[in-house]
Amino acid sequence: RKLGYAIVGLGSYGLGVIIPQFKNCRDSRLVALVSGDAAKARRVAAEYSVPERNLYDYKNFDSIRDNPDIDIVYVCLPVSMHAEYTIRAAQAGKHVLCEKPMALSSAECEAMIAACAKAGRKLMIGYRCHFEPTNLEAIRRARAGEIGKLRYFRSEHGFVQGNANGWRLRKAMSGGGSLMDMGIYALQAARYMTGEEPIAVYATERTDRSDPRFREVEDMIAFDLEFPSGVLASCMSMYSANQNHILLMGDKGRIELEPGTGYAGNRLWVGQGRGNEITPPPGPGATQWAGQLDHLAQCVLTNRTPIVPGEEGLRDLRIIEAIYQSAREGRRIALRA
Ligand code: NAD
Repeated sequence: RKLGYAIVGLGSYGLGVIIPQFKNCRDSRLVALVSGDAAKARRVAAEYSVPERNLYDYKNFDSIRDNPDIDIVYVCLPVSMHAEYTIRAAQAGKHVLCEKPMALSSAECEAMIAACAKAGRKLMIGYRCHFEPTNLEAIRRARAGEIGKLRYFRSEHGFVQGNANGWRLRKAMSGGGSLMDMGIYALQAARYMTGEEPIAVYATERTDRSDPRFREVEDMIAFDLEFPSGVLASCMSMYSANQNHILLMGDKGRIELEPGTGYAGNRLWVGQGRGNEITPPPGPGATQWAGQLDHLAQCVLTNRTPIVPGEEGLRDLRIIEAIYQSAREGRRIALRA
């Protein structure tokens, strides 16, 4: 059977990106909506054939407990609401897919993991690039030794933040600026491309605090990651330039993706410079989102742990906290093994 998803948060990602993807899924279907805007929920429900009885708001959310149609809750809310809705969903007996970044802090991540463990429910983070063919092919070739011994990694991720009133620029709702929203893609890529965990970070922040967008959160932050094998990663995120790039260098060549983590149109080159463009084989799903949605459904059906569980989100939050600490204190921060 197809497992039933409830989407919490009908914003640009939940409504604009995730909901239209169920048509591409094999093991997942859209069964419920959670929104503070009843008229919008009814409109979306009509378009996607969600029954009226499966519409919830943030107050009656906990009554999803009594709805057997719902197997999985997908949290597509501002970051400050991730912990609360993940924990309430688990307590209502539902499995959870939670968007990135997992939460405001590593302490919140730990509470989310504990709540899902206590309820015996799966927890997965919306790291869609683990289901994206270009990234999967880049990882495969790096692991296969195609560029020799890995030495250096670089990634910049950013966009020009135009929504000065959005929650992403309110620290209490986002937890931080470009690092939380976009730098996390560079951090993820550094970890999955090398297959290693960083042992230390060093970061520098540059923000024009007179820019009304950046009163509360950072614009640019550059962070170096040291890996045990000797690989050095140099990462960068910003809210004042458009960039989406991943580059891994080995002693025999390079793997480059640009864009690297886009919704579509990602491109991959392997070899010397940009000589050889690679067309990746298909990924696990018809699209990266279908692969992601069906992966959690399959994990629930066969009782497996997702490849990007809550622990993966927690690892990133711990590193992000160290990056912010390093930028604040102007020193290298060693990470706990
Ligand atoms: P958005 O602002 O477009 O949507 C947020 C939704 O939450 C809206 O429907 C809004 O009404 C609702 N909401 C409920 N209470 C709210 C409150 N108090 N304040 C503000 N909004 C409230 O944001 P988005 O871009 O859809 O992002 C949602 C989540 O998805 C975030 O965690 C974001 O990081 C993540 N995201 C992930 C990707 C990806 O590629 N994986 C892409 C975009 C966004």
